[in-house]
Amino acid sequence: PGHQLPHDPEKKTLVILGSGWGATSLLNSLDTSEYNVVLISPRNYFLFTPLLPSVAVGTLNPRSIIQPTRYVTRHKARQVAVIEAHATSVDPVAKTVTFEDTSEIQGLVSLTTINYDYLVFAVGAEVQTFNIPGVKEYACFMKELEDAEKMQRRFLDCLESAAFPGQSQDEVDRLLHMVVVGGGPTGIELSGEIHDFLEEDLRSWFPELANSVRISLVEALPSVLPMFSKRLIEYTEAQFKQAKIDILTKTMVKEIKEKSVVLQMPDKSIVEVPCGMVVWAAGNTGRQVTRDLMSKLPEHQTNKRGIVVDDHLRMLGTDRTIFALGDCTATSYAPTAQVASQEGAYLARILAQIAKADNLESRLHALRSSPETPESKAEITSIGRQLNRTRKLRPFEYSHQGSLAYIGSDKAIADLPFFNGNLATGGVATFLFWRSAYLSTLFSLRNRTLVATDWIKVKLFGRDVSRE
Ligand code: FAD
Ligand code: NAD
Repeated sequence: PGHQLPHDPEKKTLVILGSGWGATSLLNSLDTSEYNVVLISPRNYFLFTPLLPSVAVGTLNPRSIIQPTRYVTRHKARQVAVIEAHATSVDPVAKTVTFEDTSEIQGLVSLTTINYDYLVFAVGAEVQTFNIPGVKEYACFMKELEDAEKMQRRFLDCLESAAFPGQSQDEVDRLLHMVVVGGGPTGIELSGEIHDFLEEDLRSWFPELANSVRISLVEALPSVLPMFSKRLIEYTEAQFKQAKIDILTKTMVKEIKEKSVVLQMPDKSIVEVPCGMVVWAAGNTGRQVTRDLMSKLPEHQTNKRGIVVDDHLRMLGTDRTIFALGDCTATSYAPTAQVASQEGAYLARILAQIAKADNLESRLHALRSSPETPESKAEITSIGRQLNRTRKLRPFEYSHQGSLAYIGSDKAIADLPFFNGNLATGGVATFLFWRSAYLSTLFSLRNRTLVATDWIKVKLFGRDVSRE
């Protein structure tokens, strides 16, 4: 019969799609003895996204910021099946999920469909390109681990090509012009990291080139970091000016070519700027699997930003069997790790309550199907009361811990609810440890140790500039 999934007929099957912030936080807190739990994700690990830009400049080893999902599941009370596959479709009526192994190597079976009783939809989002020509072909993204690794390789390739003997100054200037698109936190943090790399390492590894490196940050809106207070935006802009990172606001990228980027300037004129590398950090959009599922519930799911859920994270239009959380949903909260991880922890509590209610209901059903006795009558009344209590679910409430962003040169900005818009500066290490702590406990002791070791290595030996 081949490999089997956990199956206890007494328990309901809970299928979780995704292994990111939402799904991993849920898995961490979930009592797996209550369900047959199956987790499906094309990535068999959790990625700590806040430190991704550090991987892109070689400060951190890629492996230091990921955690295999099986590290979490192996400590659970009951077996959890982890399947490396893409969910390709969900049937909310038949209650099935179809998934496919799309990785390089496949066995004889690579596509299958399973049933669920409850489904947790936490597939995140994908990079928004707005169908702007050249983005997919020529830009690097900053979303997945491969993106950061690809950017690092390209960046170093630009440097090595600029160092090629006989290169003209114009070509050196082009190769060393790094363009970051998007003035959201991803673009800002990445620009800061590239700047640190330049100041701390490139000056000693490529002294002849260091002065030719230019970083431009392009943002369509009138200011960067709209989610931060005005004071912090001004502080970041001043800091970037000092660091010689050009911020081009009210400027829109219209096209990306192999060796240039086409910009629409604030006065609407079109300018083609030569560059060696473009990093696209212009925001996210829903995945195909999410759009397909939404289109099956056209009456309730019409929000272009994503899945609409009720106060208990249940997808509207389903019979309370699909939960959705994180970046694939459209809520009043920002699509952040902070929100997704709180939603995951909340859902673990809700699912425990639902399991309890389901157990009471089957007991009630069993009692009602056998002949009535005075004892069974009393138990039915008591269970009915308990059920009423258990069925009352507390709504999800988000508790904002503040917004933080690293802006380079050992500086960070922080909008903290308890300090009323405080400006934080400090050492990188302190700040990042603080951030990983504030975000959640998802960053394990193992990962913290790996990251700390990487930092020490970089302090002692500098960043690794070998191009793999
Ligand atoms: P994700 O974490 O993206 O997880 C989605 C999961 O679904 C992944 O495991 C993916 O492999 C899987 N998946 C994809 N397709 C399928 C499919 N078809 N079937 C099954 N599974 C699928 N937020 C903060 O609050 N603070 C920060 O400092 C911060 N820094 C960031 C830095 C960067 C560079 C980036 C890119 C994001 C940052 N964010 C930060 C945002 C944060 O990472 C997201 O909001 C968060 O990841 C959302 O969690 P999620 O679980 O919804 O999605
Ligand atoms: P974002 O959506 O916040 O920012 C993208 C920016 O790109 C926008 O300001 C947009 O105006 C701009 N843009 C879009 N198209 C453009 C074009 N053609 N030309 C020029 N500019 C263009 O995206 P993000 O920074 O990746 O952040 C995504 C989510 O992750 C947000 O919710 C953010 O809060 C969260 N995040 C948080 C942190 C942090 O807290 N430190 C770090 C990274 C990401």
